[in-house]
This record gives sequence, C-alpha cells and structure tokens, in this order.
Amino acid sequence: MEKSHQILIIGGGTAGIMTASQLLKANPKLDIGLIEPANKHYYQPAWTLVGANAYDYEKTVRPMKDLIPSGVSWIRDYAETLDPENNAVVTRNGNIYLICSIWHPLSELLILSEIHPL
Ligand SMILES: Cc1cc2nc3c(=O)[nH]c(=O)nc-3n(C[C@H](O)[C@H](O)[C@H](O)COP(=O)(O)OP(=O)(O)OC[C@H]3O[C@@H](n4cnc5c(N)ncnc54)[C@H](O)[C@@H]3O)c2cc1C
Repeated sequence: MEKSHQILIIGGGTAGIMTASQLLKANPKLDIGLIEPANKHYYQPAWTLVGANAYDYEKTVRPMKDLIPSGVSWIRDYAETLDPENNAVVTRNGNIYLICSIWHPLSELLILSEIHPL
C-alpha cells in the first residue's frame, strides 16, 4: 500500500505527540500521519519518582489512543527504512508513506523523534 501525508511524524512519544499537537494548533487542516507501533505511552520523567518509591508506576502509563490528537492519522506500524530521495518511509508491514509533494512550507517536513529498539 502507498499513501501520502503532508507531514509524517515517526514516534508517538512526548516529542511526536507534542509536535502533532502544536502543528494542528497552528493549522487544523494539516494532514498529519503519525507512525507509532505501541498502544501505550509512558511518562518517563515520573520514573525517577517510581524508582524512589514515591510514585505509582501505573500512573505513568496512558493509552496511546487518548493522547494522539484527533485529526492525526495513527499508523500502527514501525518505520523501517527512510528514503529521503523519494520523500518516503517504508514500514515493517511493507507499506510506503510518502510526504506530500504539494509545495507548502510545512509539506516536506519529516520529523524524527527519539527512535530506539522496543
Ligand atoms: C527516568 C527518566 C527521567 C526523565 N526525567 C526527565 C525530566 O525530569 N525532565 C525532562 O524534560 N525529561 C526527562 N526525561 C526525558 C524525557 O522523558 C524524554 O526526553 C522524552 O520522553 C523523549 O521523548 P521522545 O518522544 O523523543 O521519545 P519517547 O518518549 O521515548 O518516544 C519514542 C516513541 O517512538 C516509538 N518508536 C520507536 N521506534 C519506532 C519506529 N521504528 N517506528 C515508529 N515509532 C517508533 C516508541 O514506541 C515511542 O512511543 C526523563 C527520562 C527518563 C527515562
């Protein structure tokens, strides 16, 4: 499958969610795709308190679906290969996501949040 978005964000951690939210605040009509395989979001700063036995670990875990801003297309997959020459990202499921080629100051933006093996 091949699909395109004006903006493609890889990773629905704090960086990805905040970026999607701020972009939609600036322009609610933006077509944003967010590639994120996990169904849970972890509020990592509180883990310091969990380690000190001063905070409940369960409170640091939230369903991803509750945090992804409405209007953002959640792509539940892993980004596997970046193909910048073709403005494309290939996912583990073999799908290809293109960043829209219509000219716009924001249309060719690829945002990478911290990516590490799960
Ligand atoms: C113990 C601890 C304490 C901290 N304390 C503070 C603090 O006090 N103040 C502060 O500002 N910061 C703190 N931080 C740092 C802060 O939590 C991180 O900087 C922040 O969470 C990073 O956000 P991120 O979105 O870049 O990465 P993450 O929140 O780690 O999210 C990365 C996301 O990318 C997804 N992903 C991974 N690989 C792929 C892939 N191939 N394709 C698609 N998605 C993928 C993951 O599933 C994940 O959802 C702390 C961190 C820790 C661990």
